[in-house]
Amino acid sequence: MHSRTSTPGSDVLILGGGVIGLSCALFLLRAGRGVTVLDKGAVGRGSSHGNCGTITPSHLPLHAPGTVAKALKWMLKRDAPFYVKPSLDPELLAWMLRFARHCNPQDFRRTALVKSQLLLRSRERLGTLIRDEGLACEFADSGTLYVWREARALTAAGRHLPLLRELGVTVELLDGAALQAREPALKPGMAGAHWHPGDARLRPDRFVAELARAVRAAGGTILEQTAVEGFRGEGGRIAGVGTAQGEIAADQVVLALGAWSPPIGRLLDLRLPIQPGKGYSITYARPGRAPAIPLVLQERSVCVTAWDSGYRLGSTMEFAGYDSTLNPHRLEALRRGAAEYLKQPEGPSVEEQWFGWRPMTYDDLPIIGRVPQWSNLMLATGHGMLGVSLSAITAQLVTELLTGRTPSLDPLPYSPARFAA
Ligand SMILES: Cc1cc2nc3c(=O)[nH]c(=O)nc-3n(C[C@H](O)[C@H](O)[C@H](O)COP(=O)(O)OP(=O)(O)OC[C@H]3O[C@@H](n4cnc5c(N)ncnc54)[C@H](O)[C@@H]3O)c2cc1C
Repeated sequence: MHSRTSTPGSDVLILGGGVIGLSCALFLLRAGRGVTVLDKGAVGRGSSHGNCGTITPSHLPLHAPGTVAKALKWMLKRDAPFYVKPSLDPELLAWMLRFARHCNPQDFRRTALVKSQLLLRSRERLGTLIRDEGLACEFADSGTLYVWREARALTAAGRHLPLLRELGVTVELLDGAALQAREPALKPGMAGAHWHPGDARLRPDRFVAELARAVRAAGGTILEQTAVEGFRGEGGRIAGVGTAQGEIAADQVVLALGAWSPPIGRLLDLRLPIQPGKGYSITYARPGRAPAIPLVLQERSVCVTAWDSGYRLGSTMEFAGYDSTLNPHRLEALRRGAAEYLKQPEGPSVEEQWFGWRPMTYDDLPIIGRVPQWSNLMLATGHGMLGVSLSAITAQLVTELLTGRTPSLDPLPYSPARFAA
């Protein structure tokens, strides 16, 4: 393996060029650090590519009480929005067990309290970042609508309203008529919705492309087709990162590999409790009657986002290891789900059918911070269903921790140290 240093003046090496790695790169550059980003392919082609692009402080943790019973019921349906492939993989089994243990009122509430701080701060910071950096990514203060067709389900979901308000998330309950008036793209007869005016949306593939542009313009280096293959340790430090293109030296290393973090982490003797949570999307040319507001169609768990440049249906959470097949039943479920709610559920032409692996932690919190084993390594991974929403605050925290500034919020709940116990 031949050796070289990262680009001269670049002291931070970021592994992974998704929304998290690129955001960290931009924030570090703005803090005066030199940065090189490595990606095994082209940047922004992982989970950050075809996701739904909603920015949602309204999103409560996944491990609500009752989730396990619902998941077990759904396991019997091949097109259900939540699916766990029966498996003997010990890591998946251990992850599932820990996840199931978290599905109780106390853990749900505790996670909601800390995660909402991150989400609300990130939502605010994303808005200023996109404006200040001039990132053309179809960002809009759109709000989101969580829509229910069935009155009973809408009533049951009302149990979350006091918690959301306590967290500082603005939410308004709309009945069927008020919902129809606010979003005429929906079919008449819906039971109602939760309106979250503080949420937003952007086009994620454009966002990552714009982040990459801004990183390069600010003097950062992005090395594509440069897969991380190994590490050279020296006295508790990472002295060199082995890549397909040779070894690269760095002063500081940020691991932002999304769902690929566990296999690469293992090369550093780290056991990161992340499972790939596979989701799907279909991107269309924009239909004539596209909803103006991003929607979450609750009974079918389908997310609908429209931009001037297109229209996307996305959803499903499949735990099946690193399975890279495009399951036609899941794609069909997106179409069928949307057709139950929308007057024009599909666009005139399909532009892309896609899957991505969300980096899921069992406690539904990201992993941000240093590890005791390596003095110059920082983790920025495990963002689950909300990596776009959490990107700006993650980059801010990573930059503060790495440059020795006082963190703008308590980083302890996100620290990898929580898995040591
Ligand atoms: C269907 C779907 C809908 C979603 N909707 C939303 C939403 O509306 N809002 C929201 O906030 N989030 C959403 N998400 C979640 C969001 O997409 C993820 O949380 C986020 O993209 C994670 O970003 P990341 O940078 O950590 O990972 P990724 O984007 O996956 O980036 C990891 C990068 O690491 C690179 N890499 C992997 N291995 C190596 C290696 N050995 N060497 C070098 N590079 C490597 C990959 O090529 C990749 O570019 C959704 C996800 C899915 C699947």
